[in-house]
Amino acid sequence: MTATALDIAQALLRCPSVTPADAGALGVLEALLTDAGFAVHRVTFSEPGTADIDNLYARIGTTTPHLCFAGHTDVVPPGEDSAWSHGAFSGDVADGLLYGRGAVDMKGGIACAVAATLDYLAANGGNPKGSISFLITGDEEDVAVNGTVKLLQWAAERGETFDHCIVGEPSNVETIGDTIKIGRRGSQSGVLIVDGQQGHVAYPHRASNPVPDIAALITALNDEPLDAGSAQFQPSNLEFTSVDVGNPATNVIPAQARAKFNIRFNDHHTQETLRALVEQRLAAACGNRIRARIDWLPSNADVFVTKPGAFTDLVSASIADATGRTPEFNTGGGTSDARFIAKYCPVVEFGLVGQTMHQIDERTPVSDLDKLTAIYRGVLERYFK
Ligand SMILES: [Zn+2]
Repeated sequence: MTATALDIAQALLRCPSVTPADAGALGVLEALLTDAGFAVHRVTFSEPGTADIDNLYARIGTTTPHLCFAGHTDVVPPGEDSAWSHGAFSGDVADGLLYGRGAVDMKGGIACAVAATLDYLAANGGNPKGSISFLITGDEEDVAVNGTVKLLQWAAERGETFDHCIVGEPSNVETIGDTIKIGRRGSQSGVLIVDGQQGHVAYPHRASNPVPDIAALITALNDEPLDAGSAQFQPSNLEFTSVDVGNPATNVIPAQARAKFNIRFNDHHTQETLRALVEQRLAAACGNRIRARIDWLPSNADVFVTKPGAFTDLVSASIADATGRTPEFNTGGGTSDARFIAKYCPVVEFGLVGQTMHQIDERTPVSDLDKLTAIYRGVLERYFK
């Protein structure tokens, strides 16, 4: 009798692994996977100025195809503990609902992947017809510098290669089976800086006011769409988030104005082409008169997409089998660690329902754990056919 997803999820939820603490969470997985015959590695990464972080990589099998389950065992802080109807780290079940920080994001998802894998191995003589691995970090929710990026590099240096990866983030919007995330938009932030010339408001001809100029540039950049969307993505969006002059006086024309913005961009662009496009539009809007430039902030959030095909069909068919639903392929929302994995192999995100993630009383129906386990089990069955 192998451990159920609920057993594993409860064991994980009872570890208060608020980033950067591990609190025993990876040890729960290490014990289960070692027992099942996985070669398990615990790897600690460091970086000056950040906490050391524990990570886990486990693999069974030495041949291809190689399917990887990826995720994180760290969680965001619970907030006011007394506000929870069941303790944030209790792992309590009430009325068919499992409570705890990380129930859906994403200890529950990891528990289902492990339970499905153990069940699959037990039914197949203990070995996959290929390889199954778990790539689990303790550093996703905070700064994420000692997590997936370094773990992928570490694995690559050891000669590990992956054919496909499933990240068990809570991809579903309302009901389990409604959404697979097959990509994410890229993210790029910048600061628009307009230089004028400081002066007395009574003598504007001796000054150059950057305030109306930055207003005009914001309007120009805001009004022209970056694109009309693509097959898998909504249109890219440039959003101004702050305009800053920092001028305490009403009788002084300021020397400079700044505006912060963020762009969520689709697969029509790379960071480089996107920056070039925005700078070209800025130059056109400035003409010969306005002096403006953009300071681009560093970004590690590139756009990625796993185009619909054999792998997404296989996941989709497993979902339909277990839930009767045909999932939508979606690329909306924020970024996730899948963006790093996409540099190594095709990746999709499919897990529990995200509604209560990062909230007080984060919870999942126990029946969703059973469904997700059945879905992952179906994926394994089809993948290693
Ligand atoms: Zn997450």
